[in-house]
Amino acid sequence: MSRAKTLSLFTFIDAFGWEILQRHAFLDDLLTTRIPLGTVFGYSSTCIPTILTGKLPREHGHLSFFYYDPQRSPFGICRLLRFLPRSLTRRGRVRRIMSRLIQRYYGYTGYFQIYNMPFEYLPLFDYSEKRDIYQPGGINGGVPTIFDVLRQQGIPFHVSDWRRSEEDNLKALTAALEEGSVRFAYLYMASMDAILHAHGTRSPLVSQKIAWYEEHLRRVIALAQKTYEDVRVYVFSDHGQADVERLCDLMKRIDSLKLRFGVDYAAVYDSTMARFWFLNDSARHQIVEVLEADPHGHILSEQQLAAYGCDFPDHRYGELFFLVDPGVLICPSFMGETPLAAMHGYDPDHKDSLAMLASNVTPDPLPQRLDDMYALMVSEAIGHSDDVALIRQQGAGTASEMDPLPCPT
Ligand SMILES: [Zn+2]
Repeated sequence: MSRAKTLSLFTFIDAFGWEILQRHAFLDDLLTTRIPLGTVFGYSSTCIPTILTGKLPREHGHLSFFYYDPQRSPFGICRLLRFLPRSLTRRGRVRRIMSRLIQRYYGYTGYFQIYNMPFEYLPLFDYSEKRDIYQPGGINGGVPTIFDVLRQQGIPFHVSDWRRSEEDNLKALTAALEEGSVRFAYLYMASMDAILHAHGTRSPLVSQKIAWYEEHLRRVIALAQKTYEDVRVYVFSDHGQADVERLCDLMKRIDSLKLRFGVDYAAVYDSTMARFWFLNDSARHQIVEVLEADPHGHILSEQQLAAYGCDFPDHRYGELFFLVDPGVLICPSFMGETPLAAMHGYDPDHKDSLAMLASNVTPDPLPQRLDDMYALMVSEAIGHSDDVALIRQQGAGTASEMDPLPCPT
């Protein structure tokens, strides 16, 4: 039996940063091109839409999960839950069950978690990832993803299910490769992020996990090489992590101002940034004063936000962003109450923020930042530069063609 021609295999490993790659052996004999890849401001909720679309947040519309929008908040139902004792509602298990119930109630297909958001504040906020970003119409801004391009071009491809375990995703990929009909495959691996958060970047568990990835990917590549003449392998990440050295109890300091949440101001405390909306000038003045005196971070200027591609004209994700320094964790935050060993979501240019790309081919041009991964994936899928230029020019489709659901933002 003759072998199928070419397979482009993209493996995404969440939080496998450039600094971490530098300290480990990882498929060194196979993946000889290894480069740092600039990340973007935000968390995986920003990075992944950027990878999949080649756009920055202002165009794809995804930044953090929660944003102030009491008119369109789907969480009115949570008002009733504010009477439940905090001893119950703070439990992770209870919050996971609540997340699942709300998700099912509204039919959300995206990654949905209420994290540590206080139930009494939830009705003031909307959520950005209601739809599965890997499916048609999943991107808020209506821009196409690499998977929309593949679908539109009729290129047979395999993509992992992000809801499944790494083992399940490896099994599904193996089955697709044995069958040999796909030309493009995207493997999604997300467990290392949690290991880094829990144990820090220097933990032996991180080294073990990298060895595990190496072993499994070696097997997958060997299998692919049996079925395909040319196997083009790209392993890449979305960001690194920095070890946490200091905690910042920003919430306590803002709470001590005795301003009324939802009346004077609103805020979301992510793990490394706090985002504010001001409902009167006095609240703005007082909060800015506290933030300017805080030694853990700084207020991002409009120019900085524009450089990050986070200059939303409607200030949807916040009128003011306070970003902490690498190694600082806002704790407690609306994301969690427990200190973590490592975090991401800092200054994207910091060395620990950098993502990486490792490959057995040398792409031309070399991607510089996450948003360049889209063009690389398109060129691998299409394999012809004229077609790539055409797709870049036209887009692979419009929101109205692909999007059967109302856009949440
Ligand atoms: Zn993470």
